[in-house]
Amino acid sequence: MAEEFSFIKGTKIAPAEAKKLNRDNMIVATMSPPGPREVEGQSQWWQRYAFLCPWCVHVEYALVHEEQRHTHWFFCGHCGGAFRAW
Ligand SMILES: [Zn+2]
Repeated sequence: MAEEFSFIKGTKIAPAEAKKLNRDNMIVATMSPPGPREVEGQSQWWQRYAFLCPWCVHVEYALVHEEQRHTHWFFCGHCGGAFRAW
């Protein structure tokens, strides 16, 4: 199951810096992976990713659009830490 995901190690965003970031560009990563049903019907530009949160070293999942990769940052649903993945 895990091999279906692109696995990415996040890099920390300091709390002071995270406060200045645009919340509209925030993606909340969750502990449970999005199922195939959630991906079904979506365009090929949506990909499921598994992230290693640099704060709590927990694996979190999110569905990310190709275009969001350049603009978005992540919020760990487990510890609330902010991180970048790309
Ligand atoms: Zn975390």
